[in-house]
Amino acid sequence: MATENKIAVVTGGSRGLGKNMALRLAADGLDIILTYRSQKDEAETVIKEIEQLGRKAVALPLDVGISSTFDSFFQQISATLTEKWNRSTFDFLINNAGIDAASLIPQTTEEAFDSLVNIHFKGVYFLTQKALPLLADNGGIVNVSTGLTRFATPGYAAYASMKGAVEIFTKYLAKELGSRGIRANLVAPGIIETDFTKAALEAHPGLGAFLSSQTALGRIGQPDDIGGVVSFLCSANARWVTAQRIEASGGMFL
Ligand code: NDP
Repeated sequence: MATENKIAVVTGGSRGLGKNMALRLAADGLDIILTYRSQKDEAETVIKEIEQLGRKAVALPLDVGISSTFDSFFQQISATLTEKWNRSTFDFLINNAGIDAASLIPQTTEEAFDSLVNIHFKGVYFLTQKALPLLADNGGIVNVSTGLTRFATPGYAAYASMKGAVEIFTKYLAKELGSRGIRANLVAPGIIETDFTKAALEAHPGLGAFLSSQTALGRIGQPDDIGGVVSFLCSANARWVTAQRIEASGGMFL
C-alpha cells in the first residue's frame, strides 16, 4: 500500500523564508499548502516549482492579521484537502508570515503596535487554535521567532516582544498537544537577506558588514540557511524534539 504524503501548511510561502521552507519541505517529500497575502503571482511561481519537484501544492490567500477571516480560511483548507488529497487533515503548520516594523520605544505608535500584535501574535495564536481540529495527530507546529528575543537591537522592542510571546505560546502548545503526539517547536533566524531586511540593509551601508563581523560564521544568512531546519523539525528525525527554540543565526552576537 502506498504511504500517503505528509502535508504542510506554510503561511507567507510566496517569498523569502516561507518560500524556502515550502521548497525544502517539498524537496524532502511533503506536499504543501502555502499562503500569500498580496503576491499571488509569486505564490503561483512557488507552486510551479513545487510541482516540478513532483509534489502537490496549492496557494491560498490569507491575511494573518485579520483573525475574523480564519474560519473561512480553514473552510477553504478543508475543501482543498478533500478535493486534492482526499484527506480531512494536514500534518504540519508553519507559522511564518510576518512583517518588519522597527521603531524606537518613544516613537512606537499604538497603531503600529496593534498591527504587530495582530500579525505576529494574535494571528499566530488564533490561526493555530483554529488549525487544531484539522491538524493530524502525531503532526507538528513550527513557529518562527527571531534572534532578537535573545539579543536586543534598538528599534525592535515591539516586534521582538510579540515573537517572545510566540516563544512562550510554543511551549504551551507542546504541553497541551503532546497527548496527541503533536510537537511544537520554534525556529529563530538571525538576520537573513530577504525583502524583509532589504530596506534596512540598503538604507544603512556598512550594516551588512558589521552584522557579518558579529556573526561567528562571518556572513549574513540566506533563506537557504533556514528551510532545512524547518524541514528537520517536520521529519521523523525530530520525533523526540518538542518545545524547543532552535536559533539559526550563524552564531550572531554570541
Ligand atoms: P518577507 O517579507 O520576505 O516575506 C513575508 C511573507 O509573509 C510573504 O510571503 C508575505 O506575503 C507574507 N505576509 C506578510 N504579511 C502578511 C500578513 N499580514 N498576512 C499573511 N501573510 C503575510 O519576510 P521573511 O521571509 O524575511 O520573514 C518571514 C518570517 O521570518 C517573519 O515572521 C519574520 O518575522 C521572520 N524573521 C525574518 C528574519 C529576516 O532577517 N528576514 C529574521 C528573523 C525572523 P506576500 O508575498 O503576499 O506579501
